[in-house]
Amino acid sequence: MYFHDAETIERTELEKLQVERLKNTIGLAAKSPYYSEVFKQNDISADIIKTVDDIQKLPFTTKDDLRSQYPHGLLSRPVDDFVRLHASSGTTGTPTAVFYTQKDLDTWADLMARSMYAVGMRKSDVLQNMSGYGLFTGGLGIHYGSERLGCLTIPAGAGNTKRQIKLIRDFNVTALHIIPSFALYFAAKVREEGFDPADMPWKIALIGAEPHTDHTRRKIEEMLCIKAYNSYGLSEMNGPGVAFECTEQDGMHVWEDAYIAEIINPETGEHVKEGEIGELVMTTLTREGMPIIRYRTRDLTRFIPGQCKCGRTSRRIDRIMGRADDMLILKGVNIYPMQIEKIIMGIPEVGQNYVIELIKEGFIDQIRIKVEIKEEFFVEDMRVLQGLQKLISAKLRDEILVTPRVELVQHNSIPKTEGKAQRVVDLRGAEE
Ligand code: ADP
Ligand code: ZN
Repeated sequence: MYFHDAETIERTELEKLQVERLKNTIGLAAKSPYYSEVFKQNDISADIIKTVDDIQKLPFTTKDDLRSQYPHGLLSRPVDDFVRLHASSGTTGTPTAVFYTQKDLDTWADLMARSMYAVGMRKSDVLQNMSGYGLFTGGLGIHYGSERLGCLTIPAGAGNTKRQIKLIRDFNVTALHIIPSFALYFAAKVREEGFDPADMPWKIALIGAEPHTDHTRRKIEEMLCIKAYNSYGLSEMNGPGVAFECTEQDGMHVWEDAYIAEIINPETGEHVKEGEIGELVMTTLTREGMPIIRYRTRDLTRFIPGQCKCGRTSRRIDRIMGRADDMLILKGVNIYPMQIEKIIMGIPEVGQNYVIELIKEGFIDQIRIKVEIKEEFFVEDMRVLQGLQKLISAKLRDEILVTPRVELVQHNSIPKTEGKAQRVVDLRGAEE
């Protein structure tokens, strides 16, 4: 059974466990070339940790630190002890390599199985993993978790919608793992192929790996006739299975017996007040081969105050608002792509895809948002389309405080990649 004791543990008990595991993690990390040096320089040993809050005495680890230690600098054991390697998708630059011992793979599979249990999956479910395999952790990570839970698991991989649909129908697939931007595209394809999503055997979708709004989730749910649950993880912390929604769909439970989560002000590095938005910082507590301490994820979120109705006592984080790196500054205003998505996806005429382009108008930076319009609305006359364009532009202005250029484009005209969607394209250097 995967409703683990650790999920309903009392806070004081949990913190005791976290302190014990954090001390152990420091001891392990000290064996790696990178941390042994960092600990020496900062006079750090496991003894300085008495309470969970003492974690603040430890230095942060950044993506650049990991890159500078590529490939082996963070390993606490000889390379020979490892059995698996993954790498981040490289969305924001050079990828980082992550190594797993057999025990690390087991721990990860357990966390994944627990996450799937939390959204209502059981042994009798059949999961089709529609994300890319290879180095991306959403492939094998989800795969082994599903097998651990005892589910029949189909490694379909990304793309090839016709084949995906055939597998789903032939093998009675009840659960999908799919990237949100692909899910919208897939939903439209299912209809194009002549199937009614309501007649498909699926019930549950695990969606994650990229930021998306609640509107997008609801749209996926409606279009596919499915329940969609937010799944959060990152390669540096194993991969998926770090934080997951439960059936309440009210924030993602962080598996706190395996990770310590902190939320900091990205400028000062200090903890924000409870409930405030900041950068998520994560520490591994159960990884033996490549422990990582206070990793700055660059992901922006907040802790959701209070306890979840499901009975799990672990803290919940809100859906990721975006990466600190994705923030756009336009006319002195900070803008996150998810603010834009929130507005766009709330408009009924809007289809599945959009892209935010950064352009130069004369010497001034401007954003141009290309929005796909549903086929049935695109045939409307010019005046109707112009009205819609104005409406979108005005709604965006109210949210982001600057008026973007809005361009309505035809259904399926924005190129769709199989992996994570690239929502922001910088064309400022390009010829217009
Ligand atoms: P990369 O950072 O190169 O994309 P990963 O494949 O390890 O590498 O992806 C981890 C990142 O993906 C996270 O740091 C986060 O930015 C994003 N991500 C993962 N899951 C979610 C989610 N449920 N919601 C929003 N963003 C997510
Ligand atoms: Zn819950």
